[in-house]
Amino acid sequence: MLCAVLLALAWTAPVSAAQTAQGETKDMNTVFAERKRLFDEIGQISGIPWYNLAAIDQFERSLTIANPKKRPTRKNALIGIYYSEVEWTGFGNPNEADTDPATIALFAGRGTDGDGDGRADRTNDFDVLSTMATFLLGYGTTENDLKLALWERYRNVRNVDRILQFARIYAAFGRLDLHDHAFPLPIKSTYSYRGTWGASRGWGGHRIHEGTDLFANYGVPVRSTCYGVVEVKGWNPYGGWRIGLRDLNNVYHYYAHLSGFDKSLKVGDIVKPGRVIGWVGSSGYGKPGTSGKFPPHLHFGLYRDNGMREWSFDPYPYLKKWEREDRLRAMKNKSGA
Ligand SMILES: [Zn+2]
Repeated sequence: MLCAVLLALAWTAPVSAAQTAQGETKDMNTVFAERKRLFDEIGQISGIPWYNLAAIDQFERSLTIANPKKRPTRKNALIGIYYSEVEWTGFGNPNEADTDPATIALFAGRGTDGDGDGRADRTNDFDVLSTMATFLLGYGTTENDLKLALWERYRNVRNVDRILQFARIYAAFGRLDLHDHAFPLPIKSTYSYRGTWGASRGWGGHRIHEGTDLFANYGVPVRSTCYGVVEVKGWNPYGGWRIGLRDLNNVYHYYAHLSGFDKSLKVGDIVKPGRVIGWVGSSGYGKPGTSGKFPPHLHFGLYRDNGMREWSFDPYPYLKKWEREDRLRAMKNKSGA
Protein backbone atom coordinates (compact mmCIF):
# COMPACT_ATOMS: atom_id res chain seq x y z
CA MET A 1 0.00 0.00 0.00
CA LEU A 2 2.73 2.43 1.01
CA CYS A 3 4.52 1.35 -2.11
CA ALA A 4 1.53 2.30 -4.22
CA VAL A 5 1.37 5.69 -2.51
CA LEU A 6 5.03 6.38 -3.21
CA LEU A 7 4.62 5.34 -6.80
CA ALA A 8 1.58 7.53 -7.11
CA LEU A 9 3.53 10.49 -5.79
CA ALA A 10 6.30 9.77 -8.25
CA TRP A 11 3.79 10.57 -10.92
CA THR A 12 3.58 14.26 -10.10
CA ALA A 13 3.05 15.67 -13.57
CA PRO A 14 4.49 17.26 -15.58
CA VAL A 15 7.82 15.88 -14.37
CA SER A 16 8.12 12.11 -14.39
CA ALA A 17 10.45 10.26 -12.06
CA ALA A 18 13.02 9.65 -14.74
CA GLN A 19 13.34 13.33 -15.27
CA THR A 20 13.29 14.18 -11.59
CA ALA A 21 16.22 11.87 -11.08
CA GLN A 22 18.24 13.71 -13.64
CA GLY A 23 18.29 16.75 -11.44
CA GLU A 24 17.31 20.35 -11.58
CA THR A 25 19.82 21.39 -14.21
CA LYS A 26 17.48 21.15 -17.18
CA ASP A 27 13.91 22.41 -17.26
CA MET A 28 11.28 20.26 -18.91
CA ASN A 29 11.06 22.40 -22.03
CA THR A 30 14.73 21.73 -22.70
CA VAL A 31 14.31 18.02 -22.01
CA PHE A 32 11.32 17.77 -24.38
CA ALA A 33 13.18 19.71 -27.08
CA GLU A 34 16.32 17.55 -26.84
CA ARG A 35 14.30 14.36 -26.72
CA LYS A 36 12.23 15.39 -29.74
CA ARG A 37 15.42 16.16 -31.68
CA LEU A 38 16.69 12.66 -30.94
CA PHE A 39 13.40 11.05 -32.07
CA ASP A 40 13.44 13.13 -35.26
CA GLU A 41 17.04 12.29 -36.03
CA ILE A 42 16.80 8.55 -35.47
CA GLY A 43 13.36 8.58 -37.07
CA GLN A 44 14.87 10.02 -40.23
CA ILE A 45 17.79 7.59 -40.27
CA SER A 46 15.62 4.53 -39.63
CA GLY A 47 12.42 5.56 -41.39
CA ILE A 48 10.44 4.82 -38.22
CA PRO A 49 7.90 7.59 -37.45
CA TRP A 50 9.15 9.71 -34.53
CA TYR A 51 5.89 9.21 -32.63
CA ASN A 52 6.39 5.44 -32.54
CA LEU A 53 9.83 5.94 -30.98
CA ALA A 54 8.35 8.52 -28.61
CA ALA A 55 5.55 6.13 -27.61
CA ILE A 56 7.94 3.26 -26.82
CA ASP A 57 10.20 5.60 -24.90
CA GLN A 58 7.31 7.03 -22.88
CA PHE A 59 5.86 3.59 -22.20
CA GLU A 60 9.20 2.36 -20.87
CA ARG A 61 9.50 5.50 -18.74
CA SER A 62 6.14 4.62 -17.18
CA LEU A 63 7.47 1.10 -16.50
CA THR A 64 10.47 2.62 -14.76
CA ILE A 65 8.21 4.75 -12.56
CA ALA A 66 6.21 1.64 -11.64
CA ASN A 67 9.27 -0.64 -11.19
CA PRO A 68 12.10 1.64 -10.00
CA LYS A 69 14.13 -1.18 -8.41
CA LYS A 70 14.18 -3.41 -11.46
CA ARG A 71 14.88 -0.54 -13.79
CA PRO A 72 17.46 1.81 -12.27
CA THR A 73 17.39 5.26 -13.85
CA ARG A 74 20.50 6.46 -15.66
CA LYS A 75 21.76 9.83 -14.49
CA ASN A 76 20.98 12.58 -17.04
CA ALA A 77 19.12 10.09 -19.21
CA LEU A 78 17.06 11.64 -21.96
CA ILE A 79 15.63 8.31 -23.08
CA GLY A 80 13.53 6.08 -20.79
CA ILE A 81 14.09 2.84 -22.71
CA TYR A 82 15.88 0.35 -20.49
CA TYR A 83 18.13 -2.54 -21.44
CA SER A 84 19.57 -4.74 -18.70
CA GLU A 85 23.27 -5.63 -18.92
CA VAL A 86 22.46 -9.14 -20.14
CA GLU A 87 20.04 -7.88 -22.77
CA TRP A 88 22.58 -5.38 -23.99
CA THR A 89 25.79 -7.41 -23.96
CA GLY A 90 24.30 -10.83 -24.61
CA PHE A 91 23.65 -13.95 -22.59
CA GLY A 92 26.92 -15.63 -21.60
CA ASN A 93 29.04 -12.59 -22.34
CA PRO A 94 31.68 -12.63 -19.57
CA ASN A 95 31.97 -8.85 -19.74
CA GLU A 96 28.70 -7.38 -18.45
CA ALA A 97 29.94 -3.89 -19.22
CA ASP A 98 30.96 -4.78 -22.76
CA THR A 99 30.78 -1.90 -25.25
CA ASP A 100 32.53 -3.61 -28.15
CA PRO A 101 29.95 -4.08 -30.93
CA ALA A 102 31.83 -7.13 -32.25
CA THR A 103 31.80 -9.17 -29.03
CA ILE A 104 28.27 -7.99 -28.22
CA ALA A 105 27.15 -9.30 -31.61
CA LEU A 106 29.04 -12.54 -30.96
CA PHE A 107 26.95 -13.13 -27.81
CA ALA A 108 23.76 -12.01 -29.60
CA GLY A 109 23.39 -8.96 -27.33
CA ARG A 110 21.03 -6.20 -28.43
CA GLY A 111 23.44 -3.30 -27.99
CA THR A 112 24.42 -1.38 -31.10
CA ASP A 113 26.66 1.59 -31.79
CA GLY A 114 24.23 4.23 -33.06
CA ASP A 115 26.36 7.36 -32.99
CA GLY A 116 29.36 5.74 -34.74
CA ASP A 117 31.96 6.26 -32.00
CA GLY A 118 32.90 2.59 -32.16
CA ARG A 119 31.23 1.79 -28.82
CA ALA A 120 27.82 0.31 -28.10
CA ASP A 121 27.15 2.21 -24.91
CA ARG A 122 24.17 1.34 -22.69
CA THR A 123 24.39 4.76 -21.08
CA ASN A 124 24.36 6.69 -24.35
CA ASP A 125 20.88 7.90 -25.37
CA PHE A 126 21.67 7.76 -29.06
CA ASP A 127 22.94 4.17 -28.82
CA VAL A 128 19.94 3.11 -26.72
CA LEU A 129 17.37 4.57 -29.09
CA SER A 130 19.24 3.29 -32.16
CA THR A 131 19.25 -0.15 -30.60
CA MET A 132 15.47 0.03 -30.26
CA ALA A 133 15.13 1.26 -33.86
CA THR A 134 17.36 -1.59 -35.08
CA PHE A 135 15.24 -4.08 -33.16
CA LEU A 136 12.01 -2.73 -34.71
CA LEU A 137 13.43 -2.69 -38.22
CA GLY A 138 14.32 -6.36 -37.76
CA TYR A 139 10.58 -7.04 -37.97
CA GLY A 140 9.81 -4.73 -40.87
CA THR A 141 8.10 -1.40 -41.25
CA THR A 142 4.36 -2.10 -41.46
CA GLU A 143 1.92 -1.58 -38.60
CA ASN A 144 1.67 -5.35 -38.16
CA ASP A 145 5.46 -5.70 -38.05
CA LEU A 146 5.50 -3.06 -35.32
CA LYS A 147 2.87 -4.93 -33.31
CA LEU A 148 4.84 -8.14 -33.63
CA ALA A 149 8.07 -6.48 -32.51
CA LEU A 150 6.31 -4.87 -29.56
CA TRP A 151 4.72 -8.14 -28.58
CA GLU A 152 8.12 -9.83 -28.76
CA ARG A 153 9.57 -7.25 -26.36
CA TYR A 154 6.67 -6.70 -23.93
CA ARG A 155 4.91 -10.09 -24.13
CA ASN A 156 1.53 -8.65 -23.31
CA VAL A 157 -1.23 -7.46 -25.63
CA ARG A 158 -2.24 -4.72 -23.19
CA ASN A 159 1.25 -3.23 -23.29
CA VAL A 160 1.25 -3.28 -27.07
CA ASP A 161 -2.11 -1.49 -27.06
CA ARG A 162 -0.73 1.16 -24.67
CA ILE A 163 2.18 1.94 -26.96
CA LEU A 164 -0.09 2.22 -29.99
CA GLN A 165 -2.36 4.55 -27.96
CA PHE A 166 0.62 6.72 -26.96
CA ALA A 167 1.79 6.88 -30.57
CA ARG A 168 -1.63 8.13 -31.66
CA ILE A 169 -1.63 10.83 -28.97
CA TYR A 170 1.83 12.06 -30.03
CA ALA A 171 0.90 11.94 -33.70
CA ALA A 172 -2.30 13.92 -33.05
CA PHE A 173 -0.56 16.80 -31.27
CA GLY A 174 2.86 16.66 -32.94
CA ARG A 175 4.77 17.33 -29.72
CA LEU A 176 5.99 15.72 -26.51
CA ASP A 177 4.85 18.39 -24.06
CA LEU A 178 1.48 16.80 -23.24
CA HIS A 179 1.49 16.52 -19.48
CA ASP A 180 -0.77 19.39 -18.42
CA HIS A 181 -3.98 18.52 -16.62
CA ALA A 182 -7.35 20.08 -15.91
CA PHE A 183 -9.88 19.76 -13.09
CA PRO A 184 -12.75 17.46 -14.20
CA LEU A 185 -15.45 20.08 -13.50
CA PRO A 186 -15.44 23.72 -14.61
CA ILE A 187 -14.05 25.63 -11.62
CA LYS A 188 -16.82 28.22 -12.03
CA SER A 189 -19.50 25.56 -11.42
CA THR A 190 -20.88 24.68 -7.99
CA TYR A 191 -19.39 21.50 -6.60
CA SER A 192 -17.88 20.02 -3.45
CA TYR A 193 -15.57 17.13 -2.68
CA ARG A 194 -13.52 15.76 0.17
CA GLY A 195 -10.61 13.37 0.53
CA THR A 196 -12.40 10.16 1.45
CA TRP A 197 -9.85 7.66 0.17
CA GLY A 198 -10.59 4.25 1.66
CA ALA A 199 -12.65 5.82 4.44
CA SER A 200 -16.17 5.23 3.26
CA ARG A 201 -18.13 3.09 0.89
CA GLY A 202 -18.97 6.06 -1.24
CA TRP A 203 -22.00 6.35 -3.41
CA GLY A 204 -23.12 4.20 -6.27
CA GLY A 205 -22.11 0.80 -4.93
CA HIS A 206 -18.33 0.99 -5.02
CA ARG A 207 -17.44 -1.78 -2.55
CA ILE A 208 -14.04 -0.36 -1.81
CA HIS A 209 -14.23 3.27 -2.53
CA GLU A 210 -11.49 3.72 -5.07
CA GLY A 211 -11.85 7.35 -5.96
CA THR A 212 -13.20 10.75 -5.03
CA ASP A 213 -16.86 11.75 -5.25
CA LEU A 214 -17.38 15.26 -6.56
CA PHE A 215 -20.91 16.42 -5.75
CA ALA A 216 -22.50 18.70 -8.32
CA ASN A 217 -25.87 19.16 -9.98
CA TYR A 218 -27.22 17.24 -12.96
CA GLY A 219 -25.87 18.60 -16.19
CA VAL A 220 -22.62 20.15 -14.92
CA PRO A 221 -20.06 19.47 -17.67
CA VAL A 222 -17.48 16.75 -17.01
CA ARG A 223 -14.14 17.39 -18.67
CA SER A 224 -11.05 15.51 -19.66
CA THR A 225 -8.35 15.83 -17.01
CA CYS A 226 -5.51 14.94 -19.38
CA TYR A 227 -4.08 14.56 -22.84
CA GLY A 228 -5.15 11.05 -23.60
CA VAL A 229 -7.23 8.56 -25.49
CA VAL A 230 -10.76 7.28 -24.80
CA GLU A 231 -10.19 3.69 -23.74
CA VAL A 232 -13.62 2.74 -22.40
CA LYS A 233 -17.08 4.22 -22.87
CA GLY A 234 -20.46 2.72 -22.01
CA TRP A 235 -22.56 1.17 -19.26
CA ASN A 236 -21.28 -0.63 -16.20
CA PRO A 237 -23.68 -1.93 -13.48
CA TYR A 238 -21.90 0.00 -10.69
CA GLY A 239 -20.43 2.92 -12.57
CA GLY A 240 -23.48 3.60 -14.74
CA TRP A 241 -22.56 5.61 -17.81
CA ARG A 242 -18.84 5.69 -17.42
CA ILE A 243 -15.84 6.68 -19.44
CA GLY A 244 -12.14 5.88 -19.08
CA LEU A 245 -9.22 7.85 -20.48
CA ARG A 246 -5.60 6.71 -20.74
CA ASP A 247 -2.87 9.34 -20.40
CA LEU A 248 0.81 9.35 -21.39
CA ASN A 249 1.91 8.34 -17.90
CA ASN A 250 -0.05 5.13 -18.40
CA VAL A 251 -2.57 6.35 -15.86
CA TYR A 252 -6.24 5.49 -16.36
CA HIS A 253 -8.72 8.29 -15.54
CA TYR A 254 -12.11 6.83 -14.66
CA TYR A 255 -15.39 8.82 -14.60
CA ALA A 256 -18.62 7.24 -13.38
CA HIS A 257 -22.35 7.98 -12.90
CA LEU A 258 -22.59 10.40 -15.84
CA SER A 259 -26.04 11.44 -17.10
CA GLY A 260 -24.68 11.15 -20.64
CA PHE A 261 -21.67 11.45 -22.92
CA ASP A 262 -20.65 13.88 -25.59
CA LYS A 263 -22.22 11.91 -28.45
CA SER A 264 -19.40 12.68 -30.88
CA LEU A 265 -16.85 10.94 -28.66
CA LYS A 266 -15.82 7.39 -29.59
CA VAL A 267 -13.46 4.82 -28.11
CA GLY A 268 -10.03 5.59 -29.56
CA ASP A 269 -10.62 9.34 -29.82
CA ILE A 270 -7.89 11.67 -28.61
CA VAL A 271 -8.79 14.27 -25.98
CA LYS A 272 -7.04 17.17 -24.32
CA PRO A 273 -7.42 18.72 -20.86
CA GLY A 274 -10.69 20.61 -20.43
CA ARG A 275 -12.48 18.93 -23.33
CA VAL A 276 -16.11 18.23 -22.31
CA ILE A 277 -16.74 14.47 -22.37
CA GLY A 278 -20.09 14.22 -20.58
CA TRP A 279 -22.32 15.55 -17.79
CA VAL A 280 -22.78 14.91 -14.08
CA GLY A 281 -25.56 12.47 -13.26
CA SER A 282 -26.59 9.67 -10.93
CA SER A 283 -26.56 6.71 -13.30
CA GLY A 284 -25.64 3.23 -12.17
CA TYR A 285 -26.44 0.56 -9.65
CA GLY A 286 -28.70 -1.37 -11.96
CA LYS A 287 -29.71 -2.09 -15.55
CA PRO A 288 -28.56 0.25 -18.32
CA GLY A 289 -30.22 3.60 -17.85
CA THR A 290 -30.87 3.19 -14.11
CA SER A 291 -30.46 6.50 -12.38
CA GLY A 292 -31.45 8.44 -9.26
CA LYS A 293 -30.49 5.83 -6.67
CA PHE A 294 -28.11 8.31 -5.03
CA PRO A 295 -27.42 12.05 -5.24
CA PRO A 296 -25.87 13.26 -8.51
CA HIS A 297 -22.07 13.29 -8.42
CA LEU A 298 -19.02 12.50 -10.45
CA HIS A 299 -17.04 9.55 -9.22
CA PHE A 300 -13.44 10.10 -10.31
CA GLY A 301 -10.73 7.45 -10.01
CA LEU A 302 -7.08 7.10 -11.05
CA TYR A 303 -5.36 3.80 -11.80
CA ARG A 304 -1.71 3.07 -12.46
CA ASP A 305 -0.43 0.20 -14.57
CA ASN A 306 2.97 -1.47 -14.19
CA GLY A 307 2.64 -3.57 -17.31
CA MET A 308 1.40 -6.58 -15.33
CA ARG A 309 -1.41 -5.29 -13.18
CA GLU A 310 -3.39 -2.17 -12.46
CA TRP A 311 -4.13 -0.56 -9.08
CA SER A 312 -5.95 2.54 -7.95
CA PHE A 313 -4.43 5.43 -6.05
CA ASP A 314 -5.95 8.41 -4.29
CA PRO A 315 -6.97 11.08 -6.81
CA TYR A 316 -7.66 13.69 -4.12
CA PRO A 317 -4.21 15.37 -4.04
CA TYR A 318 -4.19 15.52 -7.84
CA LEU A 319 -7.70 17.00 -7.97
CA LYS A 320 -6.55 19.68 -5.52
CA LYS A 321 -3.52 20.41 -7.67
CA TRP A 322 -5.43 20.56 -10.95
CA GLU A 323 -8.10 22.77 -9.37
CA ARG A 324 -5.39 25.17 -8.21
CA GLU A 325 -3.78 25.19 -11.66
CA ASP A 326 -7.14 25.86 -13.37
CA ARG A 327 -7.76 28.77 -10.98
CA LEU A 328 -4.34 30.22 -11.76
CA ARG A 329 -4.96 29.89 -15.49
CA ALA A 330 -8.37 31.58 -15.15
CA MET A 331 -6.79 34.45 -13.21
CA LYS A 332 -4.06 34.87 -15.81
CA ASN A 333 -6.61 34.91 -18.62
CA LYS A 334 -8.66 37.53 -16.82
CA SER A 335 -5.68 39.81 -16.28
CA GLY A 336 -4.68 39.31 -19.90
CA ALA A 337 -1.24 37.98 -18.92
ZN1 LIG B 1 -17.61 7.31 -5.81
